[in-house]
Amino acid sequence: MRILLVEDDDRVADALAGALRRNGYDVQRAGNAHDALAAPSVDLVLLDLGLPDRDGIEVCRELRARDGVPVIAVTARGAEPDRVRGLRSGADDYVVKPFGTAELLARIEAVLRRSVNQRIHDTRPLTLGDLTIRLGQRTVTLNGRPVPLTRKEFDILAVLVRAGGAAVPREHIIVEVWQSTYDGMSRTLDVHVATLRGKLGQAGIIVRTVRGFGYRLVAADDTTPDPATPVDG
Ligand code: CA
Repeated sequence: MRILLVEDDDRVADALAGALRRNGYDVQRAGNAHDALAAPSVDLVLLDLGLPDRDGIEVCRELRARDGVPVIAVTARGAEPDRVRGLRSGADDYVVKPFGTAELLARIEAVLRRSVNQRIHDTRPLTLGDLTIRLGQRTVTLNGRPVPLTRKEFDILAVLVRAGGAAVPREHIIVEVWQSTYDGMSRTLDVHVATLRGKLGQAGIIVRTVRGFGYRLVAADDTTPDPATPVDG
């Protein structure tokens, strides 16, 4: 597996590259955004968000947009609320400096595993009732006819489809679709789910609300009750 290590601090980069190579990874290095974006494609990018020439968040988005490469963002504690910055970057995961090598290796393994599974998953058309969903091509068809979904509707559907019928928490959908943890997104999610429901209804697919939790996809003829949600008292 090839990893591109983007880090402008040579001492940090030397130590990390050594640890990654000892664990069997083929490591390429870039010390700035320009070199990172010019580097050949890899299996994963470990990206320091504090780079000298450009905002790391922009770099992350460009890398993701180009070939969908998984990215682990590295943020420096104290620069900005770390968690928000990490999530907003659109990265698959993030670590906050200083971090231990064992933690980083575990995160790299997890992200690579998800990415491989997703690639296998995405190339296979999925059927759901009369719908056929091709995640890789971002198309949805109903008995062969395209169902026109907006970008956000498709992204929400993809998150629900990947869950394979399990309920998905609202916060998880929001982070996946908008790369945001902002509370105000909750209303926006509901609006998009409402329009998605309208479009999927004719295909016999229901986006069911799981009260106090999130959403799940069910076939219209599925009468399985949702698991009870905890009630206070
Ligand atoms: Ca830096």
